[in-house]
Amino acid sequence: MTEQPLVLIVEDNERNLKLARDVLQVKGFRTLSAATAEDGIVLARRERPDVVLMDIQLPGMDGIAALKALRASGDTSAIPVIAFTASVMKEDRDRFDAAGFDGRILKPIDIRTFPDEVRALATRGRRAR
Ligand code: MN
Repeated sequence: MTEQPLVLIVEDNERNLKLARDVLQVKGFRTLSAATAEDGIVLARRERPDVVLMDIQLPGMDGIAALKALRASGDTSAIPVIAFTASVMKEDRDRFDAAGFDGRILKPIDIRTFPDEVRALATRGRRAR
């Protein structure tokens, strides 16, 4: 990959969004952002990011419904989607796995490891099931 990965961040919390975006941009990633799942889906279809970081609790459609919408559409079905969540509960982790997320990144992010985590997930693509 000669170009830096394009990362779509779907997050309604402005501080979380800004931190994730700034940390990625410092490392040279290209970023797109959306504050709702609906806007995120539109952007994903148009821009075909290498990876999507998807918050779960969003106004309107939630992150799990958004994942299903992305998977249901041929032009976005191959994009890896990462649950971007503050929950450390096992039930939530199981629920996100069952929904088909390709990985999980916890908030608040660890700025030292976050860029490498995102790069690994963007490069690896969809998880084999
Ligand atoms: Mn949220």
